[in-house]
Amino acid sequence: MKTLSEVLRDWEAVIGLEVHTELTTLETKMFCGCRLSHEDDPNADVCPVCLGLPGALPVPNKEAIRSIVKAGLATDCEIQKRSMFYRKHYFYPDMAKNFQTTQGPVAFCMHGHLDLEIRGQGAAELPADAPEDRRASTPSSAMNAHGGTGALALDEDAAGEGLLTRTDDGYTVPIRILRIHMEEDAAKMTHLGGSEGRIGGAAESLIDYNRCGTPLIELVTEPDLRTPEEARLFMEKLRRVFLAIGISDCSLESGSMRCDGNVSLRRKGETTLGTKTELKNLNSFKSLHDGLEYEICRQAQVLEEGGVVLQETRHFEPARKRTVVMRVKETADDYRLFPDPDLAPFDLSDDFIESCRAELGELPDAKRDRFEATFNLKRADAEALAADPALASFFETAAGAAARGAVSVANVLLNVVLGQWRAAGEDAKSSSLTPAQVAGLADLVAEGAIVSAQAREVAAAMAETGESAEAIVDARGLRQETDDDALMAVVEQVLAACPDQAAQYRSGNTKVIGYLVGQCMRACNGTGNPKRFNELLRESLT
Ligand code: ADP
Ligand code: ZN
Ligand code: MG
Repeated sequence: MKTLSEVLRDWEAVIGLEVHTELTTLETKMFCGCRLSHEDDPNADVCPVCLGLPGALPVPNKEAIRSIVKAGLATDCEIQKRSMFYRKHYFYPDMAKNFQTTQGPVAFCMHGHLDLEIRGQGAAELPADAPEDRRASTPSSAMNAHGGTGALALDEDAAGEGLLTRTDDGYTVPIRILRIHMEEDAAKMTHLGGSEGRIGGAAESLIDYNRCGTPLIELVTEPDLRTPEEARLFMEKLRRVFLAIGISDCSLESGSMRCDGNVSLRRKGETTLGTKTELKNLNSFKSLHDGLEYEICRQAQVLEEGGVVLQETRHFEPARKRTVVMRVKETADDYRLFPDPDLAPFDLSDDFIESCRAELGELPDAKRDRFEATFNLKRADAEALAADPALASFFETAAGAAARGAVSVANVLLNVVLGQWRAAGEDAKSSSLTPAQVAGLADLVAEGAIVSAQAREVAAAMAETGESAEAIVDARGLRQETDDDALMAVVEQVLAACPDQAAQYRSGNTKVIGYLVGQCMRACNGTGNPKRFNELLRESLT
């Protein structure tokens, strides 16, 4: 098989994502008062409504509607005041009602977008000659599972910002979101005695209805993504936004956030869409990237050998890096979708929508821009710190306590503390380091009292003892001489002892400075700051 970059020389990959997110921060299910829990005994959290008993009447969970409206506002969607629930019929034991309650052509949230900033290595996946206007090359058409047209209102706002823009180290591109609708999860089935936990050949199938009726939101993108890396970054960004607004714990691992990847190929320059396949089991960011990469290469091979891509659902196997067919595509007609007569249409008030907006808080992009502007951070660092609300507030508290500026705090957090948290299984919330300790450490690094290599040792000791960075540095004799007069004395002593190297430097061999710094460090038993020695040597030698 060809590699991704070989394939993308001749073909354009077109990718759209469908992302399901469980509203894990809610207390109760979508249409009944049953508890939402992952720990309770099987079938403990059930009632006539979620078991689909005759005559039971559903009542929508207002908090769930708040959550989806917030998700829509945070992704620049138009909030539809008037929408309703539909029944999507199918027969399977995981849904006792024999239909899933979902939404029809009009979802609570329509036509939003997320802007991606792609830097460095990942940006290289997109060929240099890729078209700048994705909206034109992927006309929004009749392509949602709910029978809607999904026609995109190209308002002035959207029309002005639809283009890919190249930056110094990559590019930015807006990705349109077609819709975010509300639906409910099905029960969990466990098949015993068969191969690989599949129903085929199983001796027994167990059903746990605790999960049945869990509120889910499904976000569907337009087919605007062009590389596996863009798909991965879209998912990462969406996760950050949903975490920031507090609607879910967004765990790909546990499945509270799941993503299906739709992908097709077309010849470069072609504007109609090719036949797509849909990938399942993309339950990590790596699988999302690698599954799409594999599938793009597989489709290219099929097409180049004169075959056709079948519209089918495929399962990604990360261990073997391949996708296998699960089922051939069913169509929307198969589901007999119609309005649910038990649930009145919605008529959301402006007050309700505004109260949701008021609860949004600062979104990751706004936070990144603020960190960049007020603390003078590098954009990528500001983005990394703004990515997680707990990390961002840890950073802000530490920056407020630091005497020598926020840049050093950011560096210490990103380069030292994150690694230590990872190794200890901690994070900003459960950290055994306090923001004040980190501020103290950052100050010592900023003033040159310790070098960054020593910061790791100090951070580990701080976590263990609870002491301040200063106390540890002094107790361990790590403090480096920062007084220029004392350092200058060492420099003069070394230059007097090494006249040959000094002459070499003056005649243009500036590499010899490394040797001279080493001699200075030796002369002071490692208590001087090498960076400052370097500067003082250069000054003395010119
Ligand atoms: P389905 O009915 O199979 O679920 P939809 O039309 O609802 O398909 O689209 C699902 C996702 O697939 C959306 O994100 C959409 O942008 C994307 N998509 C649709 N057609 C294509 C295509 N030809 N190539 C790639 N992605 C596509
Ligand atoms: Zn219930
Ligand atoms: Mg689909």
